[in-house]
Amino acid sequence: MSRLAICPGSFDPITNGHLDIIQRGAKIFDEVMVTVFNNQSKAPLFTVEERMDLIRDAVKDLPNVKVDSSDHLLMDYAKENHANVVIRGLRAVSDFEYEMQITSMNRKLNEDIETFFMITNNQYSFLSSSIVKEVAKYHADVSDLVPPAVEKSLKQKFS
Ligand code: ADP
Repeated sequence: MSRLAICPGSFDPITNGHLDIIQRGAKIFDEVMVTVFNNQSKAPLFTVEERMDLIRDAVKDLPNVKVDSSDHLLMDYAKENHANVVIRGLRAVSDFEYEMQITSMNRKLNEDIETFFMITNNQYSFLSSSIVKEVAKYHADVSDLVPPAVEKSLKQKFS
């Protein structure tokens, strides 16, 4: 059986921390679908299309990684796509409580879909899309935090 893992998130925008999780996930699963979910409670900087284009550019050398978007419930989306696994990254203890809550709810919704946690690489443990946007707003150098296309787009957004 081919193993499809969904890597869901806001990706506003994708960072090297996300990319690290995607690259490592792509070595474990047959196929990884990076799916942009439009989280209504967050006001995004990038449109869903822009976020997908930036992810596509960042994963272009990973043949088993695809990019998609959805405004469905994650567990419904996973079932529609016959995915067995959801990948999430963990940075700090502060991520844990939220992830635990979401995962428990997701398991209640569909116990056939497993959530797979990957601990961030130490160098990215402080990294989030929000912190990148915050410093990029002040034209700080974010070249070692995000893929090159994201750096360029952030410069355009904040020019
Ligand atoms: P969400 O709104 O679902 O939290 P994000 O785009 O912020 O979406 O994150 C998507 C996933 O990537 C989450 O599992 C998050 O924990 C993980 N992630 C974000 N930043 C990092 C990082 N620096 N290292 C590892 N995982 C990360």
